[in-house]
Amino acid sequence: MNIRKFSQELQEIYDEMAAKFSDYQKASGLYCLEGCGKCCTNPELEASVLEMFPLALRFLDENRLEEWLDKLENPVQDYCLMYEPHSEDGSKGRCGAYKERPSVCRMFGVAGYYDKHHEITLSVCKLIREKYPELTKTWEGETSEEKTPMIVTWSYRMAQIDPALIQDRMPINQALKKALERVALYALYQEQS
Ligand code: SF4
Ligand code: SF4
Repeated sequence: MNIRKFSQELQEIYDEMAAKFSDYQKASGLYCLEGCGKCCTNPELEASVLEMFPLALRFLDENRLEEWLDKLENPVQDYCLMYEPHSEDGSKGRCGAYKERPSVCRMFGVAGYYDKHHEITLSVCKLIREKYPELTKTWEGETSEEKTPMIVTWSYRMAQIDPALIQDRMPINQALKKALERVALYALYQEQS
């Protein structure tokens, strides 16, 4: 597997996602709360190994594979280790891997999905919903495949890169650890070839 090529394709999808979600936020006014990072403290957050390749490659290029493997072996927090909390309760903070963050982190705030009747439904973070109740109601009534950034669209795009790796989801720290191990092997192979 050419990890660099995969990673580049994925980063292109991430960049498109960022633009799409940002346009939707601007159009709807359903923004995240300033400085908020509460969702990053959820220890059950999952990502696939493939989704962590861009970040793992960055750590390889920065010569930080060992440092991060060590951090992941001895975690100081049970939630995402890329999260840098700035408040005592952890609800404020920043992502230390903003450019390379996996898809789930890009869709926490607002995203569309199909419900069991195949209707487009808007998933809105509880904090955003509480801050903007009227706007939430308005945009819940304004869903469409054209307007609403749909989770399935991005899942499908990523699955085209590697269906098996993208479906193999696990807690985010574990996914990063596996990605780092794959990247370390890849680097070793590159050195020897
Ligand atoms: S990768 Fe970034 S956005 Fe995603 S959970 Fe970790 S800190 Fe939060
Ligand atoms: S999605 Fe919600 S919890 Fe997460 S950063 Fe945005 S406002 Fe905060």
